[in-house]
Amino acid sequence: MMHQTDLQSRMYDEMRSGRIFEQVQNYALQYLNEVFDRHVFPTEEALNHLKRFDEDLPESSSEADEVLAFLNQYGAPATLAQVGGRYFGFVNGSVVPAGLAAKHLATYWDQNSGMQVSSPIASTLETTVEKWLTQLFELPDHTAAGFVSGTSTANLCGLAAARYRLLKKQNWDVNEQGLWGAPPLRIVTGKHAHSSLIKAISLMGFGKNNIEWVEVDEQGRIIAEQVPELDEYTILALQAGNVNSGAFDPFEPLCEKARKSGAWVHIDGAFGLWAAATESLKHLTKGLSKATSWAVDGHKTLNTPYDSGIILCADQEALVSALHFSASYILESKERDGLFYTPEMSRRARIIELWATMKYLGREGIDEMVSGLHERAVQFALSIQQVDGFLVLNEVVFNQVLVRCESDELTQRVIDRVQKLRECWVGGSSWEGHKVIRISVCSWATTSEDIQRSVASFEQAMREERLRGLLS
Ligand SMILES: *Cc1c(COP(=O)(O)O)cnc(C)c1O
Repeated sequence: MMHQTDLQSRMYDEMRSGRIFEQVQNYALQYLNEVFDRHVFPTEEALNHLKRFDEDLPESSSEADEVLAFLNQYGAPATLAQVGGRYFGFVNGSVVPAGLAAKHLATYWDQNSGMQVSSPIASTLETTVEKWLTQLFELPDHTAAGFVSGTSTANLCGLAAARYRLLKKQNWDVNEQGLWGAPPLRIVTGKHAHSSLIKAISLMGFGKNNIEWVEVDEQGRIIAEQVPELDEYTILALQAGNVNSGAFDPFEPLCEKARKSGAWVHIDGAFGLWAAATESLKHLTKGLSKATSWAVDGHKTLNTPYDSGIILCADQEALVSALHFSASYILESKERDGLFYTPEMSRRARIIELWATMKYLGREGIDEMVSGLHERAVQFALSIQQVDGFLVLNEVVFNQVLVRCESDELTQRVIDRVQKLRECWVGGSSWEGHKVIRISVCSWATTSEDIQRSVASFEQAMREERLRGLLS
């Protein structure tokens, strides 16, 4: 008889009997059954119950089924119904069922996708999806992909590759010599660059004060004529999808200009890069393939589960050198070792759900889903315009709609009221110095009816706020 501690034998039993896995499976199925119809934001009661999690670490171990029952009872109601069709906050996507199910399966596998020897399946799928993405976005052959947690990290990796390459061209090895005394690099970007790019610039040691900011037009697009002279010391960071308006920078002339001067172009395409995978919206990304690196999310427009981002880089050597890794026990296989393409060593195999989502949808499915987000956004804009008191501020070129009311104060009150009604969820932002409501259509699940219900909720919020204004 093998000697097992009490805890060990209980855990063996939990693993083998499968009871707790069936238990959470039932919770999960019940959740999916309700999530499309339930209120989008947690109720006050659900939020109040969160206090129950504020406790000291238990002294001793407890029953697994009780831990899970507790989590489900108080955790599930305190979630945002983001999986459903009426969550329009930030730019958060839902989940394609096949991707969610694949993630579920992969959870049990618990793979480390750092190296081929630590997970042959992850290594193989990363190789396949790298090729798929390169073809789908029509990027240069041999474009390398790193599978990271999101576009924030992907932006960081793109800038790291750029920094490596541009300094190397000046005979400076940043890995060996560091930044002190290095030839200065320039960083040029638009005034509407995403905050995660700015964070990456800080982390890379470029210094925010050194950014050469370029003016943008009324949609937030970089004005090409205002971009300064570029040279081989310069990183030009462009954007596919302005986080507020959804607008795309003019890639064609700028990538051309950069190419002539030896500058590196990095494109933050967190949600917008997927326009390149559609027939109807592809025109927005014209010239995009002439950049050097691209950052994109799976978890936004493609609706993979969190967390899924990708760095794509046409200069594979620069990417791998920037994220290089050396340790005596690293086994370099002929196959792909993921750790050479990302900042981390150990990583969960998020490639599994990305692969499953793309395999399930195929080219046509991706096109249909992404175009559908655009169509629903246009529907929202057209409908809300019919409602007295709302003004649409942007050209709805992709999935983002910006709306404001008569005053900033009323706009804020309407946002608060819409959030309280819980029929849908939208957040606020600022645009041209004004408070605005930002509607991001990012869920495959959103139907025309969801849009109608949400617009009706906006109408109700406006009515109630105006009435309150009259009464007070
Ligand atoms: C969301 C977003 C990011 C950050 O991506 P994460 O996946 O949240 O890290 C960067 N840029 C743009 C334009 C975005 O919309």
